[in-house]
Amino acid sequence: MFIIRNANIYAPRALGLRDIVIQDEQILMLAEPGVTVGDLPYEEYDAAGRAVSPGFIDNHVHVLGGGGGLGFRSRVPELQTSQLTRVGTTGVIGMLGFDQSTKNMRALVGKTKAFNEDGMSAWALTGATLRHPIPTLTGDVIDDIAFIDDIIGVGEISVSELGYGYDSLGSGPAYIAEMLVQSLLVGRLAGKGGVLCLQVPPYFEQCLKPMMAMLDTSRVPIEQLVPSHVNQTDMYMSDAMEWGRRGGWVDVGANYRPDNHYERSTDPAIAVTEMLEAGIDGAQILISSDGNGAPPKEEKGEAVPTRANYGKVSSLHMVWKQLIDQDRCSVEQALRFVTSNVAIAYRLPNKGKVQEGMDADLIVFDENWTPVTVIARGKFMVKEDEIIVRSMFEKDVLEGIG
Ligand SMILES: [Zn+2]
Repeated sequence: MFIIRNANIYAPRALGLRDIVIQDEQILMLAEPGVTVGDLPYEEYDAAGRAVSPGFIDNHVHVLGGGGGLGFRSRVPELQTSQLTRVGTTGVIGMLGFDQSTKNMRALVGKTKAFNEDGMSAWALTGATLRHPIPTLTGDVIDDIAFIDDIIGVGEISVSELGYGYDSLGSGPAYIAEMLVQSLLVGRLAGKGGVLCLQVPPYFEQCLKPMMAMLDTSRVPIEQLVPSHVNQTDMYMSDAMEWGRRGGWVDVGANYRPDNHYERSTDPAIAVTEMLEAGIDGAQILISSDGNGAPPKEEKGEAVPTRANYGKVSSLHMVWKQLIDQDRCSVEQALRFVTSNVAIAYRLPNKGKVQEGMDADLIVFDENWTPVTVIARGKFMVKEDEIIVRSMFEKDVLEGIG
């Protein structure tokens, strides 16, 4: 038993001061401060009235390392556990990206299991960005989702069969529809969301229009799709507004910012405001980092294929904090974009809320909304700014370099 005392809970809903009683990996109850548990042995941690929220869930991360577009040496290294936990991320959805030659589904599933062994919660999507048909672990999307616990959906896939730099010739949306239906149906069997993370060529006329036409024809439920980093260009944003008005998820990319070499992007904090002002329900908005990848930089309004730009996973917390610091939304509202909304979108049971029966994934913040203590499945990952859990060889590698 483990009791967190005097937690000012944002569940995301503000609940005020409570003690959080944790048994094994889950929240047993939220109690009035000073709760006792009889003679049972317990560990105690005093949150001292600081704000406590659910751990963030980053729904789009290249955990194996993306990149690869500038030669073999541009392959990004694997992400390490404390890179996520130190910024409050306790849950991560990993996927392959551009490079599906030297990175593959076996390594991705292995990496997902490693995060889970470290105490985080990690899931994988099957597929890769640029290849139709997509690569899978077992040779079949349906078998991947039916039989591999770690795989909960499909992605990141480009809607264009020609890849993210080009519009579709027409077969891309049909292929996505096929993948959507397969993953939706097998998801029902396996008790998973079967959701598809969509990459959209952002620089061309089509953007999300072929997908909207596909949905109109096929009647596939729009909530099975998560279009990613919708703030990448104005054209994509305006299609995403329409997508949102139709009831779909809109996922804002925290690394796509004019101050981060994406000149044509809408700053993510501003993008969230624009969506809310356009009448899109805050319950449909997600934020992800698309971190640990390395898409091309933009210069003078053009993507420069010879200049890779590393995407930090820490941008998720940075953008989230901007929403609060800039008074763009309430703490409760901002939290939903990175906790409960993500759990609903990807159908992650027991995730995204500080509530009885939920997994004990928690962030304790200082007064500036910086995580000081991070708990994942009932265990300290970070405690008062000290990193408690790292990937097994994380420190050795860093010290070896240092
Ligand atoms: Zn990506």
